[in-house]
Amino acid sequence: MNPRRKSAQANPNLAQGFLGVFIYSRRAIELVWTTSHKLTLAFGALTVIAGVLPTAVAYVGALIVDAVVAAIQAEPAIRAALTREALQLVIAEGLLVSAIAGAQRGISLCQSLLRAQLGQRVNVMILEKALTLELTHFENSDFYDKLTRARREASSRPLSLVMRTFGLAQNAVSLISFSTLLIAFSPWAVLVLILAGLPAFLAEAKFSGDAFRLFLWRSPETRMQLYLETVLAREDHVKEVKLFGLGPLFLDRYRNIFRKLYREDRDLTIRRDSWGFGLGLIGTITLYAAYAWIALAAIASRITIGQMTMYLMLFRQGQSAVSAILSAVGGMYEDNLYLSTLYDYLETPVEDGRGAAIKGPHPDDGVRFENVTFRYPDAEQPTLFEIDLHIKPGQSLALVGENGSGKTTLIKLLTRLYLPTSGRILLDGQDLREWDEAALRDRIGVIFQDFTRYQLLLGENIGAGDVRHFEDEERWHEAGEKGMAAPIVETLPAGYRTPLGKWFNDGRELSGGQWQKIALSRAFMRTRADILVLDEPTSAMDAAAEATIFEHFRALTKGKIAILISHRFSTVRMADQIVVLQNGSIVERGSHEELMKLNGHYAQLFLLQARGYR
Ligand code: ADP
Repeated sequence: MNPRRKSAQANPNLAQGFLGVFIYSRRAIELVWTTSHKLTLAFGALTVIAGVLPTAVAYVGALIVDAVVAAIQAEPAIRAALTREALQLVIAEGLLVSAIAGAQRGISLCQSLLRAQLGQRVNVMILEKALTLELTHFENSDFYDKLTRARREASSRPLSLVMRTFGLAQNAVSLISFSTLLIAFSPWAVLVLILAGLPAFLAEAKFSGDAFRLFLWRSPETRMQLYLETVLAREDHVKEVKLFGLGPLFLDRYRNIFRKLYREDRDLTIRRDSWGFGLGLIGTITLYAAYAWIALAAIASRITIGQMTMYLMLFRQGQSAVSAILSAVGGMYEDNLYLSTLYDYLETPVEDGRGAAIKGPHPDDGVRFENVTFRYPDAEQPTLFEIDLHIKPGQSLALVGENGSGKTTLIKLLTRLYLPTSGRILLDGQDLREWDEAALRDRIGVIFQDFTRYQLLLGENIGAGDVRHFEDEERWHEAGEKGMAAPIVETLPAGYRTPLGKWFNDGRELSGGQWQKIALSRAFMRTRADILVLDEPTSAMDAAAEATIFEHFRALTKGKIAILISHRFSTVRMADQIVVLQNGSIVERGSHEELMKLNGHYAQLFLLQARGYR
């Protein structure tokens, strides 16, 4: 990670604050520029116009007053001409003021359009990055916080930073043009103008840093709030929340989190605004001191009445330009801090495209685990311990073991969602690490027990098994037949085009067993996969249906590797090879007959279940 960014984020003290202001401005401007050249250019041009015109207004204002005073004091003969001149100047000032209003409208129009485009762009960037991440990232709570922070604030921040940068430029242009006139009165006036704004700015920078630190600390709480919202207001949780009466309890937690956050926010806001008011007073005092100074100069006839009004206006507007500049810098500092969370997320290192192999040296070797040990990133104990396993093409394997014995983890390793802590896994004699991502995924079809229920068409739920044929109706039908979803489809009026789930209009909800048949059909979309894995996807079906499905599954996967996790021995016994896992180690292996003869753990479990059926 960029060390400068890290320090700006971890320890946003004042000195680094000034540095921090500009670290991300370039990237933010680049982002806005690449989002829309035209809008950015228009934005820039209007900003300059809106910056210069106020000085012209002040200047014309002085001419008007002096013309009026001259007209009052003039001989009647030339009074008419002077009056006309004064009126022309009034019209000119009116036009200038209209032009300022037009430029400001234009600026806000550009901003609205850019905001919409940029919000979408940043969200897409965040999601595109999410596609490249590993499962481990999503299971890591620190990383999740990063993602939440990036999504919550950062989509509005790049534009805000650019708006402030441009606002800063506009006010700087105004200030410079004010100063060129004001300097004629006194260079000291320019200096006083600038110095009087500094204290308020320093306070602002400090409080921005505090606000950012609050924002960082609170991510876990904000995430909890988002989570509670989901639990309280989403269809798949409503059943339990209602029946267990969890609603009020969760809502209370939700409220308490808000109260805590609100208290911190309130304290900070009060401090920020009290200081802001106190230090702002310095500005007011300076303004009136300058007022007195300019008035005295007019009385002493050092300047005309017209110049007096002009200098007063310049000083007043100059002061608001200074405070706009300073608060823009304060805001930019804040935006930079927030943007650092966006880039922190976007720059999360990912292991780049591991291998390039698209086939292995021994295509007949199938899958091999060699002394594989695996520990989850935060776990103390390994979940799998020294696993040796060989499954040849055409063979079926059943994994048996209590909950938590490591069956699903073994599948996650086989599908390279995780890499082994030690040892290696080979496919066709080639280490999984060396396989090309896409080639490997093509070979394996997996249905996990917590498969995803897409709120999409029934056919698309099946088509999800193969993105190349996601919308291919013919393939939906074939896979639906193989996965035994076809009988369900027949009962639905719109067949494969029935929307599933209740999120969208006319969606149909299915039973657990019916969903599992859809998921099984999804596995059959992967006609090119020669390793098929079913991780308890039939648990919601009755034993007879499961046995039928597995027989059917075997028939359809002839010559392929089939791996099955099930708690039903009626199904398990059909596998060529059965592996019994206990606390992450293989304790027994063999065919059903061999294991029964062994009279060990497997036989015991088998008899226990058989007794239940008697
Ligand atoms: P099984 O499929 O046999 O029920 P799992 O493979 O799901 O078992 O889990 C094995 C062990 O690994 C359990 O003790 C579980 O707590 C732990 N575990 C599972 N997933 C994770 C994870 N993402 N992070 C940390 N530990 C996990």
